[in-house]
Amino acid sequence: MSRLITRRSAAFGLAAAAAFPNIIRAQNVFDVDVVVVGAGAAGIGAAQELRRLGKRALVLEARGRVGGRVYTNRTLGDPWEAGALYIHWSDRNPWTQLARDYGFETLDPSSSSGGTRFVDMSGPSDGRQRRGAFGIVANFFDSDNGAVPDVSMLERVGGAQSEFRDSAMAIARMSLGDEPERISAADYARLWAGDDLVVQRGYGALAERAAEGLDVRLSTPVEAIDWSGAGVRVFTKSGVIGARAAIVTLPVGVLQKGSVRFTPELPQRTRDGLAGLGMGALTKVALKFNGDRFGMTPGTDLWVRLSARASINYECFTNDSNIVVAFFGGDHARDIMAKGEQGAVRAVLDEFAKHVGAQAQKAFIGGTLAGWATDPFSYGAYSHALPGRANARALLAEPVGDRLWFAGEATAGVGPGENFGGAMTAGGAWIAGVAAAKKIASLG
Ligand SMILES: Cc1cc2nc3c(=O)[nH]c(=O)nc-3n(C[C@H](O)[C@H](O)[C@H](O)COP(=O)(O)OP(=O)(O)OC[C@H]3O[C@@H](n4cnc5c(N)ncnc54)[C@H](O)[C@@H]3O)c2cc1C
Repeated sequence: MSRLITRRSAAFGLAAAAAFPNIIRAQNVFDVDVVVVGAGAAGIGAAQELRRLGKRALVLEARGRVGGRVYTNRTLGDPWEAGALYIHWSDRNPWTQLARDYGFETLDPSSSSGGTRFVDMSGPSDGRQRRGAFGIVANFFDSDNGAVPDVSMLERVGGAQSEFRDSAMAIARMSLGDEPERISAADYARLWAGDDLVVQRGYGALAERAAEGLDVRLSTPVEAIDWSGAGVRVFTKSGVIGARAAIVTLPVGVLQKGSVRFTPELPQRTRDGLAGLGMGALTKVALKFNGDRFGMTPGTDLWVRLSARASINYECFTNDSNIVVAFFGGDHARDIMAKGEQGAVRAVLDEFAKHVGAQAQKAFIGGTLAGWATDPFSYGAYSHALPGRANARALLAEPVGDRLWFAGEATAGVGPGENFGGAMTAGGAWIAGVAAAKKIASLG
C-alpha cells in the first residue's frame, strides 16, 4: 500500500477498486503521480504535459464529456459553440498549433461574416456617436497610455454620469459577462490582444481531440481533497485516489460555492484570491429554424440594444447552418437564465421575432440554453478581478504546500512579464495547466 494512503482512505479502497480498476491492477494501491481535477482546457493541457514528462496523471471530470467551457453542442443537429468560440490572440495561443497538429482548419472569423447590423430599441439616439465612443472607451483600458488604476471599469470612464458609461457597460456585459461597476479596470487592461481565429469543425471538437489518449474518468465529480499528509487524497463517490499532488482546474465559481471540501481549509492567501474574483454571466441561447433565413445573409451579426442595461447579439446562420446563436451578459442574462431553459429560449425567440418578423415563430424548431452561470460545474462564464483586487489571480496561483496547484483560466498567464494576460480564455487555461504540470514535474 502506498505511503500516501491512510487507514481511512484504505477503507475506501474496495469501492475504488471497482471504480478505478486499472490503478488497482497496476499497483494494488490508488496511486498516481498527479490527480488533475477537471477535464477542461487547463486539465487537458496539464495532463498532456504530465504525460509528455513521463508522469502518471489521472483526470477526474464531473461531466459526462471533456472540454468544460469549450463545448461544441450537437443536440440541435447543427453544431454550435456553447462556450468558447474564438482562438483569441491566435499568434501566441497554443490552440492555434494544436489545431494544426490535429488537422483542424482554422479561419479568420470575418471570412464567414454576412455583415453587421445594429438596432437600437432604447429610444432615439445617435447610434454612430455611441459606436464611436467604443473606440474612446478602449483607450481608458489601454496600458500603453499609462498605468490603469485598480478601480471599477465604470469609475475608470468617469462614473455613472459619464458620457462613456453606456459603452463601458456594453463592453463589460458583452465581452466579460458582468456589469462594469464589478470589474477591475486594471485586470481588464492586462488582457492580451491579437487576431482571432475560429475552428471550422468546432473548438469543442478540437478539445475532444486534444484529450485523446489521456486517462480521464468522466461523470466522476470530486467531492473533497485532503492535503493534510505528504500528498493528497482525492475523494469521489467511486472511491479515493492518493497522489503526490493535485492540479485543481475547477472554475472559480465552483470553488467559491464550496462544492469541493478541502482539508485542512485552504490558506488565507488562497481564500483571499478566491474572494477577490467574480464570475461573469455570459450566456448563449441557440435557436434552430427550418431553413428560413428571414431575408438575412448567412453570417449576419445582429446587435440589438434593448436598454442602457441590456443588449443581445445574434450570430445568424453562420456557415449557412440553421442556427441563430444569441448571446448576452450581466444581470440581464441572470434574469433570463432564471426563467429556466424553456422560458429563456421562449424569451429570446420572442425578442428575435421582433426584429425579423413573426414568421420566426413558425419557422422555429427548437432551442437550447447554455446557462453557464447556473451550471453547477462552472457557476459562471469566466473570471474577472473585482475592483481593488487586481492581485487576486496571483494569490490563487500560489501553490499550496507544493501539492495543490490551482490552474485554469483564472490563473492564466502568470509569470515574469506575463501578468495574467491570458486570463478568461481557453488559450490561457491551457497555458496555466501546462505551467502547473511543469512545476510539479520539476519537484521530482
Ligand atoms: C459563453 C462563453 C463564451 C466564451 N468565449 C470564449 C472565446 O471565444 N474564446 C476563449 O478563449 N474563451 C472563451 N470563453 C472562456 C473559456 O471557455 C474558458 O476560459 C476556458 O474554457 C476555461 O477552461 P478551464 O479549464 O479553466 O475551465 P473549465 O473548462 O471550466 O474546466 C473545468 C472542468 O472542471 C469540471 N468540474 C467542475 N466541478 C468538478 C468537480 N467537482 N469534480 C471534477 N470536475 C469538475 C468541469 O466540468 C470542467 O470540465 C467563453 C466562455 C463562455 C462561458
